[in-house]
Amino acid sequence: MMCCPELSLLALPPDCIESYRVMAEANRLCKELSGGKAEIHAQFAVNLSPCNCECLFCSFAHINGIFKESRELSPEDAVAHVRRFEADGANAVFMMSTAQNAFDRYLEIAQEVRKSLKPETVLIANVGDQSLQKARLKDVGFSGVYHAVRLREGIDTNLSVEKRKESIRNFWKRVLKSARAYSQSDRNIQTKSWRR
Ligand code: SF4
Repeated sequence: MMCCPELSLLALPPDCIESYRVMAEANRLCKELSGGKAEIHAQFAVNLSPCNCECLFCSFAHINGIFKESRELSPEDAVAHVRRFEADGANAVFMMSTAQNAFDRYLEIAQEVRKSLKPETVLIANVGDQSLQKARLKDVGFSGVYHAVRLREGIDTNLSVEKRKESIRNFWKRVLKSARAYSQSDRNIQTKSWRR
């Protein structure tokens, strides 16, 4: 039976020589594409709230009972966070919100954050599923999106695998199309892009 090359790679046993060769080649490609330059990532959340997507591995999941009330950062607090990150050496900032947080408000804060960052610092979104119309993250200065179909998606989470994939396609069209994207085969399917 024919299958796509990516799925063939995922089917390799983790401890066989072929897997190590794939990892070595991925490492070589990564260094070649990045020119050997490392990115130092820092992430912050614009809101601290219980999330009803209930991903069992996530501290924000309502069911885990860690966050009982909702609190949102002000744009000034968000700017203070990212300036601190840059001062500490970060050159890529991930801005996260829980899935139910107001998306328009997220974009407003992102605009302020982007204006305060050095031009060379990369801003990456980490948000819930979005429609094609809403996935307009590039317009406010995002260079990429972190989004994934996680292990046991739909079993350990209240989210739909198909919706996750659709969101990845939407982000691809609205944010990443002109940029470089990477697929990572740690048994998740992830889409990442860092370049403007
Ligand atoms: S959707 Fe995101 S924030 Fe919400 S529970 Fe899942 S991982 Fe956590």
